[in-house]
Amino acid sequence: MAARSKIVAGILDVLDEMADMISALRCDFDGMKEYVDDMDDDLCELEESFMMHQDHNVVETECPNCGEELFFESVLLDDDDVIEITCPSCNEVIYINDGSFDFDFDLDPDELETLEREGH
Ligand SMILES: [Zn+2]
Repeated sequence: MAARSKIVAGILDVLDEMADMISALRCDFDGMKEYVDDMDDDLCELEESFMMHQDHNVVETECPNCGEELFFESVLLDDDDVIEITCPSCNEVIYINDGSFDFDFDLDPDELETLEREGH
C-alpha cells in the first residue's frame, strides 16, 4: 500500500471512530432529552398541584374524637356530592356535607368547642 493510501485509510479509521462516538453521544443526548422532558412534566404537575393548593382554602381543624390535626380543602365543603371527611387517625367521621354537620370552619377548634358547649 502506498504511503498516501495508508494515510487516507488512517483518516477513514479516525472518521469511523468519530462517527461511532457521535452516534453514542447522540444516544446519550436523546436519553438526556427524555429525562429532561420527564422532569419538565413532573415540574409542571408539581406546579399545578401547588397552584391548586394556593387557590383552595385549606381548612385546619381538629378531630373531636382523638384531637388529631386535620387539613382539607374548603371546596370539599361546597361539593355537590355527599362527602364524608373521616379522621385518618381514628376513622371518626368529622364532617358530612349533607347538612347534618353545621360547623363553622372559620373558627379555630378551641372556639368551636366553646360554642358547642354553650349550645349555640
Ligand atoms: Zn380522630
